[in-house]
Amino acid sequence: MEVGRFAPSTTGRAHAGTLLAALLCWLDARSRKAELWLRLEDLDPDRCRPQWSEGIRDDLAWLGVDFDRIVEQHDLAAQHEAALDRLAEAGLLYPCACSRSSLAEGAVRAPDGSLGYPNRCRGRELARGGWRASCEPLRVRLPDSGIFLRDESGLDLSQQPASSFGDPIVRRRDGAIAYHLAVVVDDAASGVTRVVRGRDLAPSTATQVALQRLLGLPTPVYRHHLLLLEERGEKLAKLHGSAGADVLRASLAAEEVCGFLACAAGLRSAAEPTTPHDLLHDFCWEHAGSEDRVVRFEAGRLELVPAASGGGYPRSP
Ligand code: GLU
Repeated sequence: MEVGRFAPSTTGRAHAGTLLAALLCWLDARSRKAELWLRLEDLDPDRCRPQWSEGIRDDLAWLGVDFDRIVEQHDLAAQHEAALDRLAEAGLLYPCACSRSSLAEGAVRAPDGSLGYPNRCRGRELARGGWRASCEPLRVRLPDSGIFLRDESGLDLSQQPASSFGDPIVRRRDGAIAYHLAVVVDDAASGVTRVVRGRDLAPSTATQVALQRLLGLPTPVYRHHLLLLEERGEKLAKLHGSAGADVLRASLAAEEVCGFLACAAGLRSAAEPTTPHDLLHDFCWEHAGSEDRVVRFEAGRLELVPAASGGGYPRSP
């Protein structure tokens, strides 16, 4: 049985980009008769709030996107800890003593525009009490070899993650489990065979595949889709003030938003009101566009606007 998942971070209400990603994930899974999980990624205590988990669930149900299973990532701590135990037993975990400012010195840009980590603390060992006793961030030593893979859309995801991004943090200083480890462990634990997600996450895939290999976990099929962008060229994000679903819902019906998303994704030629179920009968990825679309929400209306020249995601650092 194929299994897909939608895994939003609970850092705000859904915005149009979240709704598009959920819709595409749902269409992919339902068109293949796959099981579909919603995993609410709420491990970052600085940015996630329980009311946003609630809000996102409500926004997705409002759009007409349903799930076979719903899990909250904070309930999955036992499997994250078991993975850290395995990495520690294999001698692959090390504490990182680098300060934020020392990380910035001479750092190279990673493929997503962030600062790469030069693996400076690789020689350090875990303290006596093991990883549980550490009050420093923990990193995992990745093999220096390359990961060669393409996603289902043909996007080349090949990279040497140990040098392009550097060894990832898997447990933060505050004890929170970091994204790359949680995503890999949780996908495997729920038997995920297809990961459908936005193109902003494509550069992370090689690091995640390297972690899967270290943990002996299977690699799912990946597909990365177009993004909705703000007029400044940034991807839509609540952090940058994009209209949340609570605001969209005050002006627009679910069918209108669904029709807009279908048009933005290239699944319909015009933004006529529709539902996820109506889109299902002729859904196939060949109909979907691959170009990112710029979106404006003004005077209670969602509109697609022509991309400004030089725009696009990610912006050059
Ligand atoms: N939680 C991540 C996000 O909202 C996505 C995780 C994933 O799809 O791999 O950006």
